[in-house]
Amino acid sequence: MMPWMMVVLAASAAAGATALGILPLRSGRPASRWMAWSSALAGGLMIAASFALVESVPRSTTLQMALGAVAGIGVLHLARVAIGARDIRLHQLDAVTDTYGRNVLRVGMIHAAAEGAAIGAAMAQDIAFGVFVAVALALHNVPEGTLLGAVLQARGASLQRAAVLGVAANSGQVILALGTYLALLRWPAGLALLLGFAAGALVYLVLVDLLPDAYEGAGAKSIALTVVLALWTFGLLHGVLRG
Ligand SMILES: [Zn+2]
Repeated sequence: MMPWMMVVLAASAAAGATALGILPLRSGRPASRWMAWSSALAGGLMIAASFALVESVPRSTTLQMALGAVAGIGVLHLARVAIGARDIRLHQLDAVTDTYGRNVLRVGMIHAAAEGAAIGAAMAQDIAFGVFVAVALALHNVPEGTLLGAVLQARGASLQRAAVLGVAANSGQVILALGTYLALLRWPAGLALLLGFAAGALVYLVLVDLLPDAYEGAGAKSIALTVVLALWTFGLLHGVLRG
């Protein structure tokens, strides 16, 4: 298989995993505590992926990586401001309006696109490493799919429609993964910059998209514990795989 096909396949599998997150919604809307723990689990996996990206950068290119991370945070912040995505509170599902639902979808698309860049940059670094990052993000797409699905369901979408919309919102992941990978084939010198960009973007998303809402939904202690357990489990796995 050509390496670029591997990129498309891994990113598509990751985006498709979102649909699995819809399954728990069949038995009704989960309690807000479960939604909050889902956010924390997704967040822990994203921090683990971010850490792996940073760690994969050779020491001689640390500065480029750091500049990339600052750019990643800046670009995502601007994108969120541009779509007016403040005040998204997933646990207040009873007050879901049309605008709110649309905003959640938009935020989800930006969120997924940044994760696509992470998969693409990791793949350009090394295909096996890229697959590792894609698996981490595929797993995290399941709880994120539950969150997105619950919002869509609260807006009256059927489960099937919620699954389709959830995967569609994450389809940017595939495009950005392939785009980043192909760009780095032509411009290998940009690898550290883009790995840093993706790493910064992932941590920003966790701190801004996922955790504030999670703290309100389940309290700081259990959220912190869930994040740390997810982070350690995947961090450890990463260490074992690296040998
Ligand atoms: Zn995410």
